[in-house]
Amino acid sequence: MIFPDAMLGLLGGGQLGRMFTLAAHSMGYRVTVLDPDPYSPAGAIADVHIKAAYQDAEALQQLADTCAAVTTEFENVPARSLRWLEAHCTVRPTGGSVEIAQDRILEKRFLKGGGLPVAPFAEVNAADDCDRAPESLYPGILKRARFGYDGKGQALVAGAQEAREAFLAMGLEPCVLEKRVALQREVSVVVARAADGTMRAFPPAENSHRNGILDVSVVPARVSAPLAQQAIEAAQAVATRLDYCGVLAVEFFVTADGELLANEIAPRPHNSGHYTIDACVTSQFEQQVRTLCGLPLGETRLLSPVAMVNVLGDAWRHGTPAWDSVFAVPEARLHLYGKHEARPGRKMGHYTVLGSTPDDALSRAEAIRTQLSRTKDAAI
Ligand code: ADP
Ligand code: MG
Repeated sequence: MIFPDAMLGLLGGGQLGRMFTLAAHSMGYRVTVLDPDPYSPAGAIADVHIKAAYQDAEALQQLADTCAAVTTEFENVPARSLRWLEAHCTVRPTGGSVEIAQDRILEKRFLKGGGLPVAPFAEVNAADDCDRAPESLYPGILKRARFGYDGKGQALVAGAQEAREAFLAMGLEPCVLEKRVALQREVSVVVARAADGTMRAFPPAENSHRNGILDVSVVPARVSAPLAQQAIEAAQAVATRLDYCGVLAVEFFVTADGELLANEIAPRPHNSGHYTIDACVTSQFEQQVRTLCGLPLGETRLLSPVAMVNVLGDAWRHGTPAWDSVFAVPEARLHLYGKHEARPGRKMGHYTVLGSTPDDALSRAEAIRTQLSRTKDAAI
């Protein structure tokens, strides 16, 4: 086991890294962040911030020399960098498991190969593949295999012609063409797996998206107990098959027919798991510290129904959001990531609200949202 006050290394300095750093600090560890951005949210609070590229040999050497173990918060971190570090120090998760989640084609094959139902799909490596794809995949969504997030690198396509055009517009990069399925709802499960194979999953979150970006998560998800259990077991099966060590999230679709389809894997804590900070015995970030340091996993029990709302840069369009509307609710907690520039669609922070039921938490969260985005005039 790695004990405080060991130095932990982190590839990537976004909000996930910031919350990892906060958890590590509260347990008495020190953190070194590698992120080229001088204003990175995690770099700003880390003990050491190495401002260099993720492939920078000197920077990787410094991490290997000064850190007891290294993890990542950024799924597009070069798998090669993780592999290099693996030869020099403890790295969790490994480059091999991160690599699968970085590529939708590998990811789909992996999920399907493990017997998990996924939305019908075809691999698109050339424009002709759009014509060869079965008619039943249309209307579909063409998704770039790599570097997509928050709905970016995706296009809704009615038929083969539109798919071709989208494939060209996305630069002829390998893609997945996925049938657009009728969704009843979306859920996700965050699971932690230790090096000895023990696992603890957090309760499934029910997620709604706006413009392809997670908007609200509600926990417990309003699904049947067997479906919640099925999602937990599927996420655990993914972690086991990857021989994963660390925190991982699996996103699922619940179709209009009530079927559970695996959508994608995130090899890191997940936005839909932020509720665990305020509503669970152990947070997903503490769990990441625990798996990294070889400590026993913490209890994942939910202490209260909860809703989490993302605060995007859009909330700044009339000036600084009315934070007093969050602070006025005693069961609400605000988390801001310290980002300097509030661009539309950029994740600036989130808040959680505890409630007596999921619906109660959700309606309280929505009431805060209405207040938060009031115009300056209305605020006076
Ligand atoms: P990202 O990496 O951007 O999160 P996803 O594949 O999860 O990519 O897609 C983002 C969102 O788009 C999903 O959460 C879901 O709301 C919607 N979506 C994606 N694929 C499908 C599909 N096949 N059918 C219906 N909705 C989909
Ligand atoms: Mg997604």
